[in-house]
Amino acid sequence: MDAAEFRRRGKEMVDFVADYLENIEHRQVYPDVEPGYLRSMIPSEAPLEPESYEDVIKDVDRVIMPGVTHWQSPHFHAYFPSTTSFPSILADLLSSGIGTVGFTWAANPACNELETVMLDWLGKMLQLPEDFLAETQGQGGGVIQGTASEATLMALLSARFKTVKCVKESDPQRSEADIISKLIAYTSEEAHSSVEKASVIGGVVMRMVPTDDNFSVRAETLEKMVAEDKAAGFIPFFFCATLGTTPCCAFDKIDELGPICNAENIWMHIDAAYAGCAFICPEFRPLLNGVEFADSFNINPHKFLLVNFDCSAMWVKKSADLTRAFQMDPEYLKHDNQGSGLVKDYLHWVIPMGRRFRSLKLWFVFRMYGLSGLQAFIRKHVEMAQAFEGLVREDKNFEICAEVVMGLVCFRLKGSDELNKDLLKQITRMGKIYLVPCMLRGRFVLRFAVCGRTTELRHIQAAWKHITELSSKLLQNIFDYEGKERKTDQSG
Ligand SMILES: *Cc1c(COP(=O)(O)O)cnc(C)c1O
Repeated sequence: MDAAEFRRRGKEMVDFVADYLENIEHRQVYPDVEPGYLRSMIPSEAPLEPESYEDVIKDVDRVIMPGVTHWQSPHFHAYFPSTTSFPSILADLLSSGIGTVGFTWAANPACNELETVMLDWLGKMLQLPEDFLAETQGQGGGVIQGTASEATLMALLSARFKTVKCVKESDPQRSEADIISKLIAYTSEEAHSSVEKASVIGGVVMRMVPTDDNFSVRAETLEKMVAEDKAAGFIPFFFCATLGTTPCCAFDKIDELGPICNAENIWMHIDAAYAGCAFICPEFRPLLNGVEFADSFNINPHKFLLVNFDCSAMWVKKSADLTRAFQMDPEYLKHDNQGSGLVKDYLHWVIPMGRRFRSLKLWFVFRMYGLSGLQAFIRKHVEMAQAFEGLVREDKNFEICAEVVMGLVCFRLKGSDELNKDLLKQITRMGKIYLVPCMLRGRFVLRFAVCGRTTELRHIQAAWKHITELSSKLLQNIFDYEGKERKTDQSG
């Protein structure tokens, strides 16, 4: 493909994507394919000779589209949102076109500097304490990670390095292996699985902290576990708090947990992957009170800020905690401006070396929506979740299972887990809307997340109508069954 064809095909592709997104609500949100469907539809080996673009595009329709779960559909209510927007898609195209790998300042100064400034912009939208901003020329700043999982892992590994160094300073005879074997990390029993995974990768023990009636970790519970572990000779070193847990969007009480972590020399990382984006709205910002006690903090603009995957924003108070743990200095990465306070060589802040020009997506989206546009988007999602909650509460067959704070509603049919599993099976089989379940206090619960950028109230109402039509069929069977039971009882 030469530049002339690229011009033509590029315009066609933009049309293709615009058509796809404009008409997405008419597609079945969850695909009708069986595992292994794809292999038989394409050759078993890559072609030796080049093929035409037409042939490739034909196969996108034939092979790919039938097997896509349409995350951008207004009928998609699974997981958490992974929002996208036209400015973000265009910025990503530009990033692909520029095609740099911005690991150091010298590798692409614009990529490096825009990232620093965008993380300051976003940090200010979130009203983060100044310690987390780079512009104050302190020790803090932000970095774009690929995912929240990587942010948590970076935080845990940095905390591990820092603690080992600190213990060794006071007890030089002690071996690193011995210290690591005594380290204990903590997180909520409701935390995302990536947090536990970080402890597995980091080779440290992680204890799950029980939550209160609102699924929040409270200070006294953590305090007690830390005291027990210290008395048994262990070294508490890391606590990952969650703001907006994945099962039901619960919030740990960071304002009471933070002081304990600070007093005990425990690194506090805050995973606010989804809900953190909403803190750009003043009415939600109080949930972030206590962030001043944290060492690191993370949100996913790729979830709830209209920036397409992947873009996870992480801030640290002391960037040296990251860079000291991971600084490698091979000759080929040296450059003249190293060590200048203005230069951030981000390869020392992340696990991979290579990094895309992702700050462009933030820049385009922040400028074209403005803070007010992003706030309006978040508020609309929350209002739709509240509308759905209202519909559930009006129906005596259903119950709400957790407080609705943002765009997620946890609900279930009053009755057995089996009944609710059957309902979800029916919903998935019909393919009209897509939901995933969770377990709350050992009970099977349905999660309804407002996800799409183009979701409207009418979609929410139609989804509820669909759910209740399926559930009344299910309940009908049950009532018949119970009716029969009653009759048998009377005759006996
Ligand atoms: C979605 C989510 C994650 C995982 O996000 P990735 O960016 O895919 O790693 C982690 N924590 C919470 C609370 C989440 O909601």
